[in-house]
Amino acid sequence: MGPRIDEQKAAWASVAARHAGHRLALPGDAGFICQPRSCGAHCCRAFHVAVNGAEAARLAAAGAGPASRFLESEDGEPLALPLARPFVLARRGDGCVFLDADLACERYAARPAACRLYPHQVIFADRARGRTARLTAAAERRAIEDAIAGRAGLEATPLLLRHGECPGFTGPPLSAEDWADLLRETHALSLEADGREG
Ligand code: SF4
Repeated sequence: MGPRIDEQKAAWASVAARHAGHRLALPGDAGFICQPRSCGAHCCRAFHVAVNGAEAARLAAAGAGPASRFLESEDGEPLALPLARPFVLARRGDGCVFLDADLACERYAARPAACRLYPHQVIFADRARGRTARLTAAAERRAIEDAIAGRAGLEATPLLLRHGECPGFTGPPLSAEDWADLLRETHALSLEADGREG
């Protein structure tokens, strides 16, 4: 059994006003295939990418060179903010330091979680209160499995969202299994990106 589409739509309707610029992604919707020539790699230009130490080390190990070469730095030292993801990828021209002239990522295999996540996002809707629910990571995982199994009357409904401005939703329709895999994968990346893996 797949997700309850009626519950998905009702939950989205209760919180959509707080998530302008996003769309609900459901089984049957077009899948994502990156189309950088359609948008000029907009996401790699418009957003500053925060990274943690492990991601910086992964990029360095993938041949990106010393951290001061690809992180925002001062006097040869990466700037560190007092946040879970303390570093920011440097800029080159009007885009990310790793965006090349062909609109490809020079370090695609080692790219940070924020880049793997885009253009999807998972939120949890508390329909009764009409707002985004805040749960523990374990409770979020349970809610996701309940939704995938089609259990009714969820306390918090997980919603797979996509950025409305991304032109990459040109792929074949998502099956219920595709949707479930994407929901789980996007949630796992969100936990990683937020430093909430535990
Ligand atoms: S690391 Fe790669 S995918 Fe991420 S913003 Fe930079 S060029 Fe784009």
